[in-house]
Amino acid sequence: MVQSNIHSAIIEAQVNCAGCGNKMVLKGAFHAAQFTVESCFKCHSAYTGKRQVSDTGAVEKFKQKFKGFSNFKKK
Ligand SMILES: [Zn+2]
Repeated sequence: MVQSNIHSAIIEAQVNCAGCGNKMVLKGAFHAAQFTVESCFKCHSAYTGKRQVSDTGAVEKFKQKFKGFSNFKKK
């Protein structure tokens, strides 16, 4: 059985980029009117030519971890 209605609707979706914070409106057959991507055409390494850490949450955890570690070392 084929669900023919799933990809039939073309809508404008608000897309938020987690990598650079860029917000854009894209037209397409999206499942949701708003969603987040890890990187966009502005910050993706394929366009910028350099590596980019898009998961800022992981970076913050990393900094927090070493923040405590450096405090421990100073004492
Ligand atoms: Zn981006």
